[in-house]
Amino acid sequence: MSPPPSVSQAATPEALLEGLAASNLFDLKGLVAVVTGGASGIGLMVTTALLANGATVHIVDLDSKQLQSILNTYGSSAEGRIFGHQGDVSQKAEAKRIAEEVGKLTPYVTVLFNNAGIVRRAIPIPYTSTEPEDYVAVFDQYDESSFLKVFSVNVWAPFFFATAFLPLLCAARGGRFPPQIINTCSVMGYAKDISVAWGLLAYTLSKGAVEQLTKILAHSLINLGIRVNGFAPGTFQTAHKRTVLGFSDPPPAHFVGEEADGLPGVKIPVRHFGRNEDIGAVAIMLVTNQYMTGEVVCVDGGMLLRMPASH
Ligand code: NAD
Repeated sequence: MSPPPSVSQAATPEALLEGLAASNLFDLKGLVAVVTGGASGIGLMVTTALLANGATVHIVDLDSKQLQSILNTYGSSAEGRIFGHQGDVSQKAEAKRIAEEVGKLTPYVTVLFNNAGIVRRAIPIPYTSTEPEDYVAVFDQYDESSFLKVFSVNVWAPFFFATAFLPLLCAARGGRFPPQIINTCSVMGYAKDISVAWGLLAYTLSKGAVEQLTKILAHSLINLGIRVNGFAPGTFQTAHKRTVLGFSDPPPAHFVGEEADGLPGVKIPVRHFGRNEDIGAVAIMLVTNQYMTGEVVCVDGGMLLRMPASH
């Protein structure tokens, strides 16, 4: 496979500067993206950033009402560049069906964002106790279904989707942007102390696993010309954060105050939750940069600097 054309080949300094201008470097016209969980939260932040820069976006989401509402909201400004596909990403058959559905609307997919994710059951670790039964009482709240549900959406859906979309991704080879898979990981995937992840044991494990999947897929798909990267958000105010964890805006003091009491390690050094543009900028950087593969970029306001973490 020959490398894609580069602005470095510009004939004059003027042409080089023009080629490196943000309006050219980040012009996403012709790019076709699939974003799972794209109807809300971080997936919607990715979707809107891509749309704003000229890409076509296929949103895949379980929530048909929310999906329709996003199509209605952005339909006219996206000028025919936004499509919706209702489905459950955790089902292998659904991944195949949705890839077929998308394939009827586009001859190629430039980038697949495996973003849909869920949390389940928080367990408060009784760190100060020296009694085994206190630990058993807490750990025992976890059963097979709690792990399976979280892993089915957060880990094996990205694998099923990567597999189902391989032919459409390969069809993007030779284009301006080489094909890519981008997985939404999480800084919580690095947590050793799960109280910094609000005691979300299965979620924390699943996010560690999706980072590893990113690296395994990057390694596995290199000869297909498909790059695989990820980004690891810190704390963004989204539906799952609001409903599951009860976040408010502005953030509660214990998240941002240097001295305030709070959950250990979750203070955000930049002192605010992540924002739409923080995800938008990293999504655009990853889709346009052609020289990264097997990387997971943290977008966390410095949280990881404060966490007992394995990164
Ligand atoms: P969200 O709940 O706001 O959005 C998730 C979207 O995924 C929803 O639209 C939902 O309908 C969809 N979805 C859920 N299960 C699905 C399924 N089985 N099939 C298809 N769609 C499904 O959550 P969010 O905060 O935007 O999270 C998005 C991703 O970002 C997740 O992978 C999450 O782990 C990750 N993340 C979020 C944060 C944060 O601070 N919000 C931090 C780190 C990582």
